[in-house]
Amino acid sequence: MYTILRQVNYIELSPRQIIILDIVKKFGPITGTQIAEKLSLSRAALRSDLAILTMSGLLGARPRVGYYHTGKKPTELIAGIIGTVCVADVQSRPIVIRETCSVYDAIVMMFIEDVGTIVVVSEGGFLEGIVSRKDLLKATMGGKNINELPVTLAMTRMPNIILAAPDEPVLRAAKKLISHQVDALPVVQMVQVEDTEKFEVVGRLTKTNITQLFVNLAET
Ligand code: ADP
Repeated sequence: MYTILRQVNYIELSPRQIIILDIVKKFGPITGTQIAEKLSLSRAALRSDLAILTMSGLLGARPRVGYYHTGKKPTELIAGIIGTVCVADVQSRPIVIRETCSVYDAIVMMFIEDVGTIVVVSEGGFLEGIVSRKDLLKATMGGKNINELPVTLAMTRMPNIILAAPDEPVLRAAKKLISHQVDALPVVQMVQVEDTEKFEVVGRLTKTNITQLFVNLAET
């Protein structure tokens, strides 16, 4: 989340940055030294403002030519910002249950943790499956004793689980939530255990995380 907040702040320009933007719009392409002269400041004093304006995408810079106004619209800038956010910036902590637990245990955990999806893990926190509200509802409808019904019988299991990686762009992960019509993706890191590759569960990406990101973008 910190990256995104920092990046969004770039769009909230200081009065001096707004003046620089105006100068470049009027006189660009223009060198940093020429801008500094117009403001009666040293080139060094402008360095951070120019860096902010170029990193935010408002200004472009070409060597030996100078700064120019990119003419990017705010929507394009927001798309650019979203493009820099990765799953680790917005994910929640993982809520997991061991594969030895019952359907009853999973239902209790869902209430205690106030979540709609629980990741089922083996010893060591490795991904085995995922259970949703409807999986558990369905399991309760079979007339079996849910205290004795293993959660593994209700879950969707590997390799059918749609995953996210911490360094994956959040936009790509959000598209997976939509295209696979699921509410959450386990965030995993691949680890080698003896000869097999396993997925260590390090987080949870939910539709709520995406909604929160949307709100943060509007409010910062
Ligand atoms: P609900 O079932 O409560 O509507 P979901 O839409 O998230 O919640 O889940 C729909 C189905 O997809 C369930 O059977 C669930 O086990 C499965 N599921 C949930 N998340 C994933 C995921 N990340 N990858 C694969 N299957 C999933």
